[in-house]
Amino acid sequence: MSSNKRKAVILEGMLKQADKSYVCPACFKSYSRMSDLRNHLKQLKDAENHRGLSEMEESEFRRSYAKIIGWKPTDKEAELELPRERFAAFTRDVVVEKIASRTKDLLQSKIQIYLQIALSSGMAHVCPECVDQDLRYFNKMVDFDAHCWERNDQTHMGLLSKTPADFLPAYLQAMGLPHIEELPPGSDKPGRWTNERYLKTDYVFQTKKRFVAPETAAAQEQAII
Ligand SMILES: [Zn+2]
Ligand SMILES: [Zn+2]
Repeated sequence: MSSNKRKAVILEGMLKQADKSYVCPACFKSYSRMSDLRNHLKQLKDAENHRGLSEMEESEFRRSYAKIIGWKPTDKEAELELPRERFAAFTRDVVVEKIASRTKDLLQSKIQIYLQIALSSGMAHVCPECVDQDLRYFNKMVDFDAHCWERNDQTHMGLLSKTPADFLPAYLQAMGLPHIEELPPGSDKPGRWTNERYLKTDYVFQTKKRFVAPETAAAQEQAII
């Protein structure tokens, strides 16, 4: 499984686990229940990018939905192929598929949409060491710290540290980055606030080099031998 494919699988799994089944195609906020998403759409019904999504009239709704997912006026409306049931047009799979299929790189586009959903839904941080092995995410840094204490190995103790000399080697190791040069300027002076930035879900997913599950990595090594 390619690194990108694996990223998409992990992100999808995180969202599934968080029970974020319904997604607003305009801002990517996600909800467990359709009634909560409906309230969101009603509250923002006059906002420019949400207009028409809570519209009861079918053709008006379809036009608004099509515009939001990037449908061009020249495209045939029949090809929009929205599910018959209104709620189904807001399920995560349908929203992601509809938007991603309008772009050139389907997989890359899916990853970007999943990341936006995650960030809009309180999945602010992930552990750079464990992200490709479990589906855990952290809304608050105190929860991430608790995770590090729980794991209590050298890497996690480093990730917990406010001292650059301890944080950076652990971070580079977890991210599969060989050199400090690969990190953006200023990252040699972490402090807790900077650490937080490097633990952000989108940054980790965009920057981490190795992104394979342990069993996949083993299989690849076997294949090479
Ligand atoms: Zn929205
Ligand atoms: Zn971890």
